[in-house]
Amino acid sequence: MTDLSLRGRDGGTTTITAAEVEALRGTLRGTVCVAGDDGYDEARTLWNAMADRRPGLVLRCAGAADVQHAVRLAAGHDLLVAVRGGGHNIAGNAVCDGGLLIDLSPMTSVHVDIANRSVRVEPGATLGDLDKETQVYGTAVPTGINSTTGVAGLTLGGGFGWITRKFGMTIDNLLSADVITADGTPLRASASENADLFWALRGGGGNFGIVTSFEFRLRPVGPEVLSGLIVHPLADAKDLLRDYRRIADQAPDELTCWVVMRKAPPLPFIPEDWHGREVLIFALCHCGDRAEGEAAVAELRALGSPIADVVSPHPFIGWQAAFDPLLTPGARNYWKSHDLTALADGAIDALLDAVRRLPSPECEVFIAHVGGAMARVAADATAYSQRDAHFIMNVHTRWREASQDADCVAWARGLFDAVAPFATGSVYVNFMPDDEADRVEQAYGANHRRLAAIKARYDPTNLFRMNHNIKPAPAAEDAE
Ligand SMILES: Cc1cc2nc3c(=O)[nH]c(=O)nc-3n(C[C@H](O)[C@H](O)[C@H](O)COP(=O)(O)OP(=O)(O)OC[C@H]3O[C@@H](n4cnc5c(N)ncnc54)[C@H](O)[C@@H]3O)c2cc1C
Repeated sequence: MTDLSLRGRDGGTTTITAAEVEALRGTLRGTVCVAGDDGYDEARTLWNAMADRRPGLVLRCAGAADVQHAVRLAAGHDLLVAVRGGGHNIAGNAVCDGGLLIDLSPMTSVHVDIANRSVRVEPGATLGDLDKETQVYGTAVPTGINSTTGVAGLTLGGGFGWITRKFGMTIDNLLSADVITADGTPLRASASENADLFWALRGGGGNFGIVTSFEFRLRPVGPEVLSGLIVHPLADAKDLLRDYRRIADQAPDELTCWVVMRKAPPLPFIPEDWHGREVLIFALCHCGDRAEGEAAVAELRALGSPIADVVSPHPFIGWQAAFDPLLTPGARNYWKSHDLTALADGAIDALLDAVRRLPSPECEVFIAHVGGAMARVAADATAYSQRDAHFIMNVHTRWREASQDADCVAWARGLFDAVAPFATGSVYVNFMPDDEADRVEQAYGANHRRLAAIKARYDPTNLFRMNHNIKPAPAAEDAE
């Protein structure tokens, strides 16, 4: 082993001697790898194939002690550092070129404390890991809609999915987090300990330290939920979306219905002659009483002339993974997102115009249905500020060949611009691509100033900068 020349925080290089690397190998419970070693490619490969980065050194952590060593190494040598949880963030910031990768993906334990109705989760666990353990007890934590997503990044950005309208966002169910801060100090953040840090972690992303353990409140869910897809021809979408927005506005908290517009995938329940043609899909979940659920979804099911309707009781774990086959890792992806308080006619026209011109067969537009319990939390109660959104549009542009990059990105940006007049201006940080650094302040709105002050307190030198970065406030202001 020779000395390593790694990328520094401010663009220069810094040397880690072979002796230091050997010492790390002896100290860490996890593994140390460089290019060519087992585990190096696994650690650096992200969900989004657009991010193809090669860190100079990878520390695959086995626990909080490893994370502390890694942070001290990074801080001591002024290294450019990236932190990886589940590796799903669209911006690809979980891996850096040339610097240090702190890989948390080996830390996957999930421990349910059913007596306290809580669960402790390590930062490499996926949503599927969490669901599998919590469903043993007929419980769940509200998270997202793709089971391979990491709990860590999703939580730190906010987190919403099928049961958020009933039980709140993922962050609304966070009880505490164990954190290694930029100087290597282990802290607990909760409502009663380091409350400013706890506030910032709930939406502020990976800016404030590395979370080594999340503690969540458990909610009663499942084992089955009334859920499924209703598939319609895109030609009927204008009328359907107008009815949908009314139904969605009046829906009980238990009912969540997202809209997906795309080319019909070759699923067995969709007639073959529809495969590859543009469709509108209502994807819905009712997490309450079965009879109430049937009544709540009746109006949606009666709309138009569906090509397929597969709404019925499904295991919650299965429904949480229903979109996995369409969202597999390895494709090239680019996203653009808007928060919307309403689905204006102009927004519907813009959406339909774009969906008629999908630039590749895997592109799709998601409209997430939020509100309910999520909206009953004050905008300044957590770092996640945009509680008034009723819908969140996410343009999932997805393709296979680099030669299609320009066309696909241009299509997404065009749709984003066309919907902008009908949007709030805020955006969910977890849906922001890597070219939206100038949107971070807008994303946090009135909460940004307080976040910058808390950043100055916990990470004054901006060690944790491979993220949608909140710069430390110039002079440390009182964050409380
Ligand atoms: C297919 C797909 C579906 C999705 N669906 C939803 C959805 O339904 N709802 C929703 O809310 N979101 C959804 N998302 C977005 C998701 O919340 C983000 O991509 C999130 O960042 C993923 O977390 P991760 O741990 O996998 O990401 P990573 O890429 O590993 O991490 C993202 C960033 O978080 C930081 N980070 C990660 N772990 C830690 C840690 N332990 N401590 C400190 N910082 C850390 C780092 O800055 C890192 O760059 C989806 C994403 C994908 C790709």
